[in-house]
Amino acid sequence: MNKFSWYEAKSVEDALQQVNSTVSKELYQATNKAAVFKSGGIDVFDWVKEGLLQPKKVINIRNIPGLDKINFDSKKGLRIGSNVTLAELASNPEIKTNYLALHQAVNHAATPQLRNVSTLGGNIAQRNRCWYFRSAEHECLRKGGYLCYAHHPENGENENHAIIDNGSCVSVHASSISTALMAHNATVVIADSEGKKKEVSMDDFFVSTSKDVSKENILEAKELITEIVLPAPTKNTKSAYIKQVERESYDWSLGDVAVVVEVSGNNTCRSASIVLGAAAPVPYRSMEAQQAIEDKTINAANAAVAAKAAMAIAQPLAKNSYKVPLFEATIKQAILEIS
Ligand SMILES: Cc1cc2nc3c(=O)[nH]c(=O)nc-3n(C[C@H](O)[C@H](O)[C@H](O)COP(=O)(O)OP(=O)(O)OC[C@H]3O[C@@H](n4cnc5c(N)ncnc54)[C@H](O)[C@@H]3O)c2cc1C
Ligand code: SF4
Repeated sequence: MNKFSWYEAKSVEDALQQVNSTVSKELYQATNKAAVFKSGGIDVFDWVKEGLLQPKKVINIRNIPGLDKINFDSKKGLRIGSNVTLAELASNPEIKTNYLALHQAVNHAATPQLRNVSTLGGNIAQRNRCWYFRSAEHECLRKGGYLCYAHHPENGENENHAIIDNGSCVSVHASSISTALMAHNATVVIADSEGKKKEVSMDDFFVSTSKDVSKENILEAKELITEIVLPAPTKNTKSAYIKQVERESYDWSLGDVAVVVEVSGNNTCRSASIVLGAAAPVPYRSMEAQQAIEDKTINAANAAVAAKAAMAIAQPLAKNSYKVPLFEATIKQAILEIS
């Protein structure tokens, strides 16, 4: 591990002022002159330990006062500070009552030990877990190279990779919590070094590979996430989240699904928000599934139609065709859980 200096940021403004022209815009572009923000540090220090990142300065944003609050108002909704830990989210009773899909997603992410350390801001800003991306020896497309090693039809190890939007980089986003946040129509509050704040939807926070293969989100070097905001649920809002993994105790997602619906008295779906995780390079809103279930009774037949509609556009790679039936079963099950 290389030597780096440590800066303890006292405020959002202070952290952003520490960012100078040498800050790493993307983790992998970092040189030994770069500075990097660190919240929980789980992902940042994985990069340092693997030799993929040699920062000169680590700016610790973890102890900035005010970024560790959870505020729920039944009319205004939920505001979560970017430094709130996953453990704090998992044990929050208002989140369990009002945002069940988020509660379930957080409880199925990582391990209890990791959840004690990981923050929500760091979770949604973490980079993907493609093994080639995480190997210093593979200068792949996402790292400015010319090849996607995972995409190779014979040698590509692509069993965990994308089945949708997989024309160039075929990685999947690592944050399974973002699947639920996007389904709950969350927004991300971002502060910049000029003291301005903007609020963007989760749908716009993530960047598709067709737009820019080097990025997974819109964050610029001199920007910090300060909050994640969820709209207030109505009395008819119901939600569910299911994650499929290889190892039950803890694991990265093979495929996860979050469903948030407005249901009328006769069990009819009035509006649906359905998001798939580990299906595409960023969390994927399935307009196909949403349209198929809207204005329909929530039952097994209609849930199966919605699941089939979602997977009609899937184009599996050589080693991940198992994900198509996995998603079909999981989407159907998640829709039925809210009936
Ligand atoms: C074995 C293992 C299993 C895991 N399983 C899951 C899982 O199933 N689901 C899941 O969702 N996650 C999972 N994770 C991810 C983990 O829970 C953390 O959320 C994640 O690694 C990063 O959180 P962090 O707070 O440590 O971020 P850090 O490592 O501190 O930061 C990550 C990135 O975000 C940037 N950053 C941090 N905070 C901000 C901010 N406020 N504004 C702008 N940029 C910021 C940093 O500069 C860095 O680029 C797993 C991790 C491990 C190691
Ligand atoms: S899937 Fe993406 S991150 Fe993985 S090797 Fe291909 S280009 Fe790189």
